[in-house]
Amino acid sequence: MKAIAIAPGRPETADLIELPEPPESDGTLLVQTRLIGMCGTDREIAEEGYGSPPPGADRLVLGHESLGEVIEAPEGSGFAPGDLIAGVVRRPDPLPCAACAADEWDMCRRGDFVELGIKDRHGYGRERFRLDPRFAVAVSPALGDLGVLVEPMSVVAKAFEHVERIAARAWFESRVALVTGAGPIGLLAALLARQRGLDTHVLDRATEGPKPRLVTDLGAEYHSIPAAELPLRPDIVIECTGVGEVVIAAVHLAAPGAVVALTGISHSQRAGEAYLDALNKDLVLGNKAVFGTVNAARRHYDQAAAALAAADPDWLTQLITRRLPAAEWPKALHKGPEDIKIVVDMAASNGSLA
Ligand SMILES: [Zn+2]
Repeated sequence: MKAIAIAPGRPETADLIELPEPPESDGTLLVQTRLIGMCGTDREIAEEGYGSPPPGADRLVLGHESLGEVIEAPEGSGFAPGDLIAGVVRRPDPLPCAACAADEWDMCRRGDFVELGIKDRHGYGRERFRLDPRFAVAVSPALGDLGVLVEPMSVVAKAFEHVERIAARAWFESRVALVTGAGPIGLLAALLARQRGLDTHVLDRATEGPKPRLVTDLGAEYHSIPAAELPLRPDIVIECTGVGEVVIAAVHLAAPGAVVALTGISHSQRAGEAYLDALNKDLVLGNKAVFGTVNAARRHYDQAAAALAAADPDWLTQLITRRLPAAEWPKALHKGPEDIKIVVDMAASNGSLA
């Protein structure tokens, strides 16, 4: 069967490769892959050499955002042929740390975990895959292809869960949310903020394209001014840019007692002038909490699937701006200014897919 693969750091190697059928040792559920979502991590693997192929392999099969249809499931697995599922990305440490042993592999304290399509394990970007039912997330049939958004939404569901746990220390209820960055993660964060009834604001550089309208269609407010000039005192910030200046500005903007979740991964080693003592003073005198969050535990995937099922499918559909047949997948590594989420159709009838 065909798979979408690349040697990390060598974008010219992006191609379809031939893989054997998935071994039964991968799990009892056999799944026909439908869609693979591509994100910034895939582009970093291609361009910057992030990630690593399985031991002994020179290429890594991509695909950590998955949607597939179950074709074989054992009795009692909770799944049946025809069910739609999304696969969990991380697999816990083989000798689990305390976090992995508690099924909180997203909070792993040792780092020997593997990640499908990212770290030491081939991804879901192949015609069929097998997995243990424990790592399969049921997707409502009504969601259909939009189930490919479960994985990115799981990251945001975790961020919100942790924000709410930290915010529970305060006497007040959070009312105003700021999301910095209107990429797929930022837009999904804005959706979750609106589902919680928050007065939601989204900051992004784009002044054209679909982002401003997608934000206002949620009943949120769109801003494209420098972060420091926003006329807001948010109680919750979901930071999705990973850009240092935006992070610092968002921390200063945040209201006393606010919680700031950092979800964006910075891509440079930039050094610059920062008023560290002023930052410290602001955090202390403002009782502000800033924390980082990555990946998601099993329950966040289920929360994500539920949040997507409760959302307007017409709005979600507009997040998928391009759909490529598998043979053209390398084009997904180049995101255009109008692109939000690019997906690869692993089932598209195409000459080069047998
Ligand atoms: Zn661990």
